[in-house]
Amino acid sequence: MTVYSGPVFDMAVNQFGVIADHLAIPADERDRILMPKRAITVSCPIHRDDGTIAVYEGYRVQHHLTLGPTKGGTRFAPSVDLGEVAALAIWMSWKCALVGLPYGGAKGGIAVDPTAISKRELEALSRRYMMEMIPFVGPHTDVMAPDMGTNEQVMAWFMDTYSMYQGRTVTEIVTGKPVASGGTLGRREATGRGVAHLARRVLKELAIALDGATAVVQGFGNVGSYAALELHRFGLKVIAVSDHTGALYSTAGLDIPALVRHASHHGSIKGYSTEMQCDPAGILTMPCDVLVPAAMERVIDGKVAQQLKCRVLAEGANGPTTPDADLVLEQRQDEVFLIPDILCNSGGVVVSYFEWVQDLQQLFWEEEEVMRREYQILDRAFDQMLMRAKVDKVSHRTAAMAIGVEKVRAAKNTRGLFP
Ligand code: NAD
Repeated sequence: MTVYSGPVFDMAVNQFGVIADHLAIPADERDRILMPKRAITVSCPIHRDDGTIAVYEGYRVQHHLTLGPTKGGTRFAPSVDLGEVAALAIWMSWKCALVGLPYGGAKGGIAVDPTAISKRELEALSRRYMMEMIPFVGPHTDVMAPDMGTNEQVMAWFMDTYSMYQGRTVTEIVTGKPVASGGTLGRREATGRGVAHLARRVLKELAIALDGATAVVQGFGNVGSYAALELHRFGLKVIAVSDHTGALYSTAGLDIPALVRHASHHGSIKGYSTEMQCDPAGILTMPCDVLVPAAMERVIDGKVAQQLKCRVLAEGANGPTTPDADLVLEQRQDEVFLIPDILCNSGGVVVSYFEWVQDLQQLFWEEEEVMRREYQILDRAFDQMLMRAKVDKVSHRTAAMAIGVEKVRAAKNTRGLFP
């Protein structure tokens, strides 16, 4: 019996099973590594602008506290439920361990469409959520960050609410804050830049020239837009992008800087062009060199995996590929080079870690230093993943997750089981 359920949680369990079998982890050790330490569910009532009261359900799942505080984003989306949040927290643990951060994974969220409420309502909801979480979080317990549907502004409200209750400014309680209130340079761009950096490395390994290579990006929010911008800067033609409002396509390559300006002004890619519109359903299977899913989970299933026509699959989103798609991709390893999510999008948590370190020390770095250190960590983890895949003769995802799970397991075993 477990309180967690749903397809995303099942997917995390399924993936862990594959890794646990590969590492031959004894059955009685598995639940201790897999099951979350803590799950918090809260009701967040707010006054709506029309004078009525609405109550939203919020969650936070802290996966393990073995290596330090937990760390993870906060998602505002209608789909959010306890199972989804738990799965995302579990993936954060493997990700942090893979890249060597002193954190366990966490994730939180509210079941709400943030575009369907006013800015004042969003602020009230963000503050109430953080207030409800105060007994359970802290700079050395659990540090929040942005995810789908939240941004720097929401992090600033979280930080302000927590600080008001402490009676002092506690910038290190969240990461992904505006630079003006204790954030770090380079955090906003970190995830997308990391995705593009690793995709470029793989293109070089495959001897595909950057200039004129093509890319397709699903999702044009924080991760997708910065990944597209960086790939465009490297000389790739970004031929298609999509978001929740539709998709755009141009064989000549889209003007990504102009599209980013449009999206930041209008909140989406809608209205940018009528001539370039295309069917969002076909975007993942378009022929291209680099495909970046950067929107949501489980968009690449077994059927889509068969139809992928990219050379590099750079997973910007968390969990975009289902376990049955993984089986297909294992067969197609020579055609599609997978950069698995826990490595590909880890630039975000790496720079969040830098932000936390800088806040704790009150000593801030230049953006070049942030980027240099980010790429150093990503490159090291990439090399380790490749080596492990080769030695163990397994897929890139299995190799990356095996490194992460192994580190969490080793920490638990050396600390022992209390009492
Ligand atoms: P965001 O809210 O900034 O952007 C999400 C984007 O996805 C938006 O453009 C939205 O329109 C689009 N989208 C939603 N539904 C869609 C659909 N059905 N088809 C196409 N596009 C759709 O979120 P984000 O922070 O960019 O996060 C995106 C993904 O990356 C999530 O899986 C998140 O967990 C993951 N991620 C984010 C970070 C980070 O630093 N923000 C770090 C690691 C992983």
